[in-house]
Amino acid sequence: MSDCLFCDIARGDLPANIAHQDDRAVAFHDRNPQAPVHVLIVPKRHIESLLTMDEGDEALLGHLHLVAAQLARALGVAEAGFRVVINTNRDAGQSVPHLHLHLLGGRPLGWPPG
Ligand code: 5GP
Ligand code: ZN
Repeated sequence: MSDCLFCDIARGDLPANIAHQDDRAVAFHDRNPQAPVHVLIVPKRHIESLLTMDEGDEALLGHLHLVAAQLARALGVAEAGFRVVINTNRDAGQSVPHLHLHLLGGRPLGWPPG
């Protein structure tokens, strides 16, 4: 076990309901879902937040979004619609300091978010 929850999940050291896995990313269902579909897509490499990504991470950032779109289709929310969110730092409510995309869908999502 490390001191990072999502690194532990990515390594398989901590159980999670895995929705997708590849060489660079892992996606798993949120343990406290805010919508019928609520999946977290994370890079396997530890990256603290969007703010600590750089030019070299462009492809990885794009890949994470393509995984989100693929999961939206697979989980049946693509046509009705879905949202992909990256919370960053305190005001956005980032509670786990390992970059993650939230994929939310399966109900109408309010705008603007709270
Ligand atoms: P944040 O608030 O950082 O944007 O999102 C963190 C998310 O991770 C929250 O939605 C929270 O429910 C989820 N989460 C935190 N710990 C765990 C865990 O151990 N397993 C799973 N599946 N989700 C977690
Ligand atoms: Zn980590």
